[in-house]
Amino acid sequence: MEKKAIALLSGGLDSTLAVKLIVDQGVEVVALNFTSPFCTCTSRARREAGCKHEALRVAKELGVEIKLVAKGKEYLEVVRNPRFGRGTGMNPCIDCRIFMLKRAAAMMDELGASFLVTGEVLGQRPMSQHRQAIALIEKETGLAGKILRPLSALHFDPTEAENSGVVDRQRLLDIAGRGRRRQIDLAQDLDISDYPCPAGGCLLTDRNFAARLRDAFEHIPGEIEPREIELLKIGRHFRLASGAKFVLGRDEAENERITAVAPAGYARLEPKNFPGPGAVVSGAMGGDLETAAAAIVHFSPKAPGSAVVVLREGDRFEETAADRAFDFAAFKKRAVGAG
Ligand code: SF4
Repeated sequence: MEKKAIALLSGGLDSTLAVKLIVDQGVEVVALNFTSPFCTCTSRARREAGCKHEALRVAKELGVEIKLVAKGKEYLEVVRNPRFGRGTGMNPCIDCRIFMLKRAAAMMDELGASFLVTGEVLGQRPMSQHRQAIALIEKETGLAGKILRPLSALHFDPTEAENSGVVDRQRLLDIAGRGRRRQIDLAQDLDISDYPCPAGGCLLTDRNFAARLRDAFEHIPGEIEPREIELLKIGRHFRLASGAKFVLGRDEAENERITAVAPAGYARLEPKNFPGPGAVVSGAMGGDLETAAAAIVHFSPKAPGSAVVVLREGDRFEETAADRAFDFAAFKKRAVGAG
């Protein structure tokens, strides 16, 4: 059996520790970092960096080769139609693990690896890390015996890597449950000091983002383009009576970002004669144009009585006077997520 493994490295604490434990046993490790638009992981020391950057940094620190693997469009389909359900948000954790492990397994021959390493801890994640879920994932991937979980290995039967002596089981651990104390102590023992996202970061578990993504799936029957997903991360979102999506910036930075990331097919709405938020709107609005104009005015304390909002869409240019008798309480019920 080759003394070489592929590890799933998110850049978070658990996967970092798992790789370190295996590297310290003299096993050559190639790390895979799966990227998707749903990662929120940021370093305490480098707030602007994401999981990908953290994984690159960790791999460098551990001296292992790393490959970045985009989950891609196929993964969006998994998120839209998971076979094994979702967690509290839109997170299809079991399907997600199956997806990543199958991808990793498909690279084993090419990379000369004989087993896989993950940072999973028995009982830590309610959906994908309890015993039945782990058994299901192994069955679905056909990888029983090939996935080594160094942090929890002693809670499972020995894997092929342990049975063959490539990995010394005595040097593996028996961590279980949701507490983080043992991992944090271990990080100190192993001299790993700057770890981001001790519990990992995934937007799909965020209730607000999940509501927006669910709404997008309901209203966009075909493929959802990456810009649409980026837009879900910013601003206040409303689904208007016409079915159009209306997104308002909450500050200057968001006003700019909203117009920068809005996909083709979105029109811009902006205050004409007052300072206020920028907005974008998808599809035909019909009578909702007045509603959108009034909402922009509502969020503009300095708007005059004669406030006018401009809609721009290609060559189209339309001015709308805001309805001052706007019923904001009714409008707010159209919020998608936190609004
Ligand atoms: S939390 Fe997100 S990234 Fe992690 S397994 Fe679940 S869906 Fe996948």
